[in-house]
Amino acid sequence: MARKFFVGGNWKCNGTIEEVKKIVATLNAGEATASNVEVVVSPPFVFIPLVKELLRPDFQVAAQNCWVKKGGAYTGEISAEMLVNLDIPWVILGHSERRSLLNESNEFVGDKTAYALSKGLKVIACVGETLEQREAGSTMEVVAAQTKAIADKVTNWANVVLAYEPVWAIGTGKVATPAQAQEVHFELRKWLAANVSAEVAETTRLIYGGSVNGANCKELAGQPDVDGFLVGGASLKPEFIDIINCAS
Ligand code: PGA
Repeated sequence: MARKFFVGGNWKCNGTIEEVKKIVATLNAGEATASNVEVVVSPPFVFIPLVKELLRPDFQVAAQNCWVKKGGAYTGEISAEMLVNLDIPWVILGHSERRSLLNESNEFVGDKTAYALSKGLKVIACVGETLEQREAGSTMEVVAAQTKAIADKVTNWANVVLAYEPVWAIGTGKVATPAQAQEVHFELRKWLAANVSAEVAETTRLIYGGSVNGANCKELAGQPDVDGFLVGGASLKPEFIDIINCAS
């Protein structure tokens, strides 16, 4: 089964009502020429209903996080049930900014992923090493441990997209080379084959994130194990349309 190219836009903690309307208008006007691309944009929680109302129907919406279990007395959190209630199909979990700034552990991300999936959400699960870990030669060890914590809790991978996002490439303008991205994606797929199943390895989309832009996306997309992107900064700009179209 061919893996459908996937492009996610992570808006992070950015935007005003006016800016959000402008971004959505640009996306709605953009000509998505690639026929076989799944496009998902992820605004901050408070703008989700607005984006859902205005966004073209062929693009989907994701939340940037959700709580690890059923909602209740968890001040400041948003539950998976609420996202389902709002008809939001996707959620990003385990982003490195949350792992590092909010101390989200591998196990916590695994638990969140399993819970969100159990409620019917689709999950963009993020993994990736820091610069120190890369320089120490432990990239694969780190990424495998992060993936294992997810695999330990997840039985059905059909609704999981795995985003490899090297921390040193996020928001830095220092994109991984196509060879660097391909190497980790290839190893990750091998890990999935050995530790989950050959079928999951073959069918799960492995997307790359970290300083992807309109200029570097084409070469990255040409790598055999790169099945799409999770885009931060450039997803707020008109060039996001170029990234969507780069696989065509
Ligand atoms: P960036 O962010 O494209 O701004 O580097 C990617 C991400 O954090 O998902």
